[in-house]
Amino acid sequence: MTEPSTLPPCPICGQPAQARYRPFCSRRCADVDLGRWFSGQYRVPSTEIAPDADEKYTRRVDPDDEVG
Ligand SMILES: [Zn+2]
Repeated sequence: MTEPSTLPPCPICGQPAQARYRPFCSRRCADVDLGRWFSGQYRVPSTEIAPDADEKYTRRVDPDDEVG
């Protein structure tokens, strides 16, 4: 079996591209590139949690916890 391996590396992750998803290595990388096109810029969309959720994790300083 002769498999053509002349495909350029995936522009997203650099792994060997697959003929099925060329010029990418997988559909995931293709989606990533597509997302960049939609966003119009070459940056990853932030998926940070809402600031409100941080309130739950806010630790209160308890004076009694202070050990001399
Ligand atoms: Zn890739």
